[in-house]
Order: sequence, then structure tokens, then C-alpha cells
Amino acid sequence: MPKTMKAQIFYEPENMKLEEVPVPEIGVDEVLVQVKACGICGSDIAYYYGDSSLETETGKGPLILGHEFSGEVVEIGSIPEQKGLFKPGARVVIDPLQYCYACEICKKGEFNLCENKNVLGVSHNGGFAEYCASHYTGLHKIPDNVSYVEAAMTEPLADAVYAVQKMSVKLGDFCVVIGPGAIGIMMVQLIKSSGAGTVVLVGTRDYRLEVGKDSGADMIINTADENSPYYVADLKAKIEELTDGKFADAVITPTGSVEAMEMALEISGRRSRIVYFGLPSDEAVIRVHALSAIFWDKSILFSWLAPLTWPTALKAIATGLVDVKKLHTHTFKLEDLAQGIADVKARKGNVMKAIVEP
Ligand SMILES: [Zn+2]
Ligand SMILES: [Zn+2]
Repeated sequence: MPKTMKAQIFYEPENMKLEEVPVPEIGVDEVLVQVKACGICGSDIAYYYGDSSLETETGKGPLILGHEFSGEVVEIGSIPEQKGLFKPGARVVIDPLQYCYACEICKKGEFNLCENKNVLGVSHNGGFAEYCASHYTGLHKIPDNVSYVEAAMTEPLADAVYAVQKMSVKLGDFCVVIGPGAIGIMMVQLIKSSGAGTVVLVGTRDYRLEVGKDSGADMIINTADENSPYYVADLKAKIEELTDGKFADAVITPTGSVEAMEMALEISGRRSRIVYFGLPSDEAVIRVHALSAIFWDKSILFSWLAPLTWPTALKAIATGLVDVKKLHTHTFKLEDLAQGIADVKARKGNVMKAIVEP
């Protein structure tokens, strides 16, 4: 085992350096993982540029960012070793949300809300490095037919699984996804697999919408670009027409846009489920026309993180229910991470998901 490793150390907004640092020493309840793939997430970008709503609760650098990662087990602490849980060489993906399993909230199974959780890549060192230490309970084995790059997308997919479960999709339902980012397109596939009759994907950029169409969306709608062949000026009228005036059975918003969140209420029908998923700004307030929401017996739900949905997400990849390969558009070396973050922010080269391979 080498004593040192390359890591990208984030110090403060737009100040991150590739450094040679000691390989983390693991505790008795930890496992050392050699990172093979780590996705660049929107929240890494927000953290890097200092506009993260997560930052206030998590502090600043020095910190190794990156929370969507997979790798190979290289060292095992004595507790997981005694339990025979992992062998060196095992292929694993790391749930970066490392719960305490001891607080009252964890004991009720509401792990996403654990009061003592550590988050690798956000509050503790993460995956933009050659090695990362993880609590042994955070590791999931990667199915044999799933690559490291695909596995690195388990974290966002597990979030998507939890949110889509809240839509309570019934056979034949008419569903709308507003926000064609990587998670939105994962949601399209999950909703289709859940038995929806029609999934409409709504966004503002054709290249993303077209990936959604390739991934199973029955219809794509561009609400912003008048030159787009998918342009629709009045989304509400369009959904009304498509559903014979019944509107959508379920709508989900993988976007931080309040406009999209309010539109979701406008286009949802009787007994509909509206699931809010993306992170809006701290000042954001959603206006609900209360009487119509009551008269149509709507359910408005919020979704945060991925409690207990990791095994389902891994199965969805392994069985092909969700094809994450299509979403992987760009690869960066660890030394080029700052450039990668800038390119993803600028959406250079029609990026969907960029992966760092150390
Ligand atoms: Zn993420
Ligand atoms: Zn806890």
C-alpha cells in the first residue's frame, strides 16, 4: 500500500489544489476504498463556487469533495473483518450519508434525517482522491454486470427511487417530469418501469430532452425555446388537451425552480400526487391555490435523500430497468477536476453526467 495519494483539496470557493497527501488511516469500523469513479454532482459545483445551501450546515475547506463514488476495497478495519463482510478486491459503491444508527430518528428507520450523520464529500473527505475511508455500514457490493462508472451513479438514482416511490404510480397513469437533468431522466425510466401509461418530460434544452426521449419518455416538451420542434407555449393547456381535461395523475420536479414547482400544481389532476425533489434557494416559497388543491384532493409531497433505497437502485441498474450508461457523457482525470466542474457548470459539450476517474 502506498503511504501517500493524490487528492483534490478544496480550501474555499474556486480554490482547490491537487496535492500529495497521506492515505487515510482507517479506524476499526472503517474500510479503505481505492476510488475508481466519482461523479461530479450539482452540489459539488455549488460547493466549489460557494453558493451551496448545504454549506452553512457543513462548513468549509480543507475538504475533499465528491460523494457519488465507487471503488475497490483495499483495507478492512477489524470489526467488518471479524464479521467477514468484505475481502480486499471487493467492488463496492459508497453511500456517502453515513448514519449513526443510534439516535431516536435512526431507530425509527428515518435514516435520511439522522441528526448525527456524516456525509462523505460534504462534511467529511469524499471521493475526489485516490483513496477514501468509509464506515463499513456505508458500503454496498456492486453486482457483477455493473461497471464502476455505472455504480458511481447509484447515489443520485437512489434519491430518484425514493422520490418516485412517493408518486405512487398506478398502472396506466399519466405522469409528468419537469427537469431533464440526469436525475430527471433516471426518474423517467423509473416511472415507466413502475407501470405509467404516459411519461411526459418537460424542460428548456433540447439536447437533454432528447436523451430523455431515448430513455423512454413518451413525449418531450420544451417550454422555453421557440425554435425547438418540441416547443409548447402553454404547458397547462397542452397537458389538459393530452389528458382530455383530466390533467396529470402524478408530477415530479427534479429542479430547484419555483416556477416549475408551481406549474406542477397547475397541471395535476384529481387525487394527483405532486412530488418536490430539487433544491430551491433558501428564500424560495411555493404558492398553492389552496381551494382547488383541496377540491381535487391532491397530495403534495417533498422528497429528501434516499433512505433504504440503495439496494433497489442497484437492482434497477443491474437488471437494465434504468440505463445510466446513456447519461455518462464526459470523463475527467483527477488533475482536471476544476476544469471539469467549470465545464459542467457551463454545460459545455452538452454534458449530462461527468465522471472523474482517478
Ligand atoms: Zn449528488
Ligand atoms: Zn442517527
